[in-house]
Amino acid sequence: MLTHVPPSSPSARPTDFDFLKVIGKGNYGKVLLAKHKSDGMFYAVKVLQKKSILKKKEQGHIMAERSVLLKNVRHPFLVGLRYSFQTPEKLYFVLDYVNGGELFFHLQRERRFLEPRARFYAAEVASAIGYLHSLHIIYRDLKPENILLDCQGHVVLTDFGLCKEGVEPEETTSTFCGTPEYLAPEVLRKEPYDRAVDWWCLGAVLYEMLHGLPPFYNQDVSQMYENILHQPLRIPGGRTVAACDLLQALLHKDQRQRLGSKTDFLEIKNHVFFSPINWDDLYHKRLTPPFNPNVAGPADLKHFDPEFTQEAVSKSIGCTPDTMASSSGASSAFLGFSYAPEDEAILDC
Ligand code: AMP
Repeated sequence: MLTHVPPSSPSARPTDFDFLKVIGKGNYGKVLLAKHKSDGMFYAVKVLQKKSILKKKEQGHIMAERSVLLKNVRHPFLVGLRYSFQTPEKLYFVLDYVNGGELFFHLQRERRFLEPRARFYAAEVASAIGYLHSLHIIYRDLKPENILLDCQGHVVLTDFGLCKEGVEPEETTSTFCGTPEYLAPEVLRKEPYDRAVDWWCLGAVLYEMLHGLPPFYNQDVSQMYENILHQPLRIPGGRTVAACDLLQALLHKDQRQRLGSKTDFLEIKNHVFFSPINWDDLYHKRLTPPFNPNVAGPADLKHFDPEFTQEAVSKSIGCTPDTMASSSGASSAFLGFSYAPEDEAILDC
């Protein structure tokens, strides 16, 4: 069924793209580098299998991801969604292609960052999180794997699969989700939680950038949960008082005492650790990133894991089925998923 489209516009479909390389993997599918056949532009296309989403009953998260992606286009540190479309078996998110590598990738290589570099990334991340909160969205899955660098070295937050929309400042939610190393104590305790969970995660990511491991890390996950809940925060020496104070404030186990719990991003912005940052310059990308990923062009894949880039691209990803009519109930579960910018056709089967 074609919806809200001028009759002469083309429909977004898999055959519009040449799928060149696998560049990443997420919970429900792969992310591929693709070139649009008509405009020659490069995109990152996230391809998800409807079957596995339905099996895990995760369609709500996927629709939330799409909905958040549609709203985010105006923030410099959030990935932009260009199109989304579906075939009977798969969902496709066409995203801005970001090829400076995952923060995780760089951190693993360098073990830890000096404070000015960690400050720059933490500030750009905080700016993006503050913006999401202003739209009443909690991000809930902040971790180095979801923080990408663009070709100049600026932060781009990706993966909105766990975002929770429509949470007003004083409101709480209670779904148990996130990534073990970065779970806030209130989430672990299965208590109602609010947007302060994201400031906990910012603290965990900052700690990892400065020290090389997440704050309460243990190989044994149940011991790690125990540490998150009860172990006092240990900060290794060699850091400035401002950095230690910020880590203590963000990683406060009581969400009501945590930095950011009252006036949100404003409290983070005003912390002394960030005093060298001019927030207006930061937002407008007028600050020179502390590290340049030095990519030669869109085809330069040096910052992606060869484990992905050497994988063969499955032919079925670039095929548009003869009939786009669904043979199962899968399409109705994703009704309204398809999206194209104004004046472009969308096929919503
Ligand atoms: P996700 O399913 O969103 O967690 O993505 C899995 C991995 O694919 C990420 O960790 C990135 O390495 C990569 N990736 C996701 N989105 C993009 C993008 N827009 N540009 C480049 N790589 C991406």
